[in-house]
Amino acid sequence: MSIKLENVSYQYKDSKRRPALNHVSLEIGKEEFIGIAGHTGSGKSTLIQHFNGLIKPTEGNVLFDGRDIHEPGYSLKELRGKVGLSFQYPEHQLFEVTVFDDVCFGPKNLDLPEDEIQTRAKEALELVGMDEKYHEKSPFELSGGQKRRVAIAGIIAMKPEYLILDEPTAGLDPLGRDKILNLLKKLHEEEGITIILVTHSMEEIADYVGRILVMDKGHLEFDGTPEEVFEHREELEKMGLTIPFYAAITDDLKKAGYFGENPEISAITLQEAKEAILTKWKRDHKSC
Ligand code: ADP
Ligand code: MG
Repeated sequence: MSIKLENVSYQYKDSKRRPALNHVSLEIGKEEFIGIAGHTGSGKSTLIQHFNGLIKPTEGNVLFDGRDIHEPGYSLKELRGKVGLSFQYPEHQLFEVTVFDDVCFGPKNLDLPEDEIQTRAKEALELVGMDEKYHEKSPFELSGGQKRRVAIAGIIAMKPEYLILDEPTAGLDPLGRDKILNLLKKLHEEEGITIILVTHSMEEIADYVGRILVMDKGHLEFDGTPEEVFEHREELEKMGLTIPFYAAITDDLKKAGYFGENPEISAITLQEAKEAILTKWKRDHKSC
């Protein structure tokens, strides 16, 4: 069970620039939680639109559970029920009169019975933390963060196996951002949904994801655990990406010799950095 890209390249027809994607190969398994990072224009949005067949590669193949999604007879409609995609600023696509109707829109397109549509919409709104008092409100009365959660509920209501989100935290305040990230964590842990999220900040996702893909100029440059990817600090900086603050502090201390020779230290969160520094400090203190 996976989404697989084999040597995928993509050239926008009306563009004379280099290809937006250049020979990208990767596989995303079920129940992963993945972040896709990269500078603006690196190809993140183009890449994720290949995952549900919105864009057809100019070269290479996209496979879903082993089948080429662009072979004749393959149902892209069915695929899009399994692989939900939330565009950047998804709230711009809210248009129904009420929040509830908006969330019903996706499952309606799946030709489900009316009571199933309603049940799914209720469950999805509950999952994103929008209780019943919001159901009959206009989406336009909501805050930015609430609108975005309603837009995501519309996709969750289709019960996708994979949920892909393009910069879901863009433009939100810290509280709205944390709500979205915690919602995605819950969907991953409790509903078993594979989460693929695009970001330009590795810092904000480091604590959540198990794997990071780094795009640069249409190439997939790194693919590994956060710890593995952050080892490439200088190369990432050349691509306009910074590693998380606590990973950088630990790295600086490591290079300055604080942890001794060849230390096996990799910290990416405040807690991990604190533990690494205190453990070392206590050890030194004892020997005095
Ligand atoms: P990202 O999401 O990382 O910012 P994109 O996938 O949007 O990157 O863009 C990758 C490259 O493709 C960029 O050079 C961008 O200018 C180009 N591009 C994106 N969308 C289009 C389009 N609709 N037409 C032509 N070129 C595009
Ligand atoms: Mg983009």
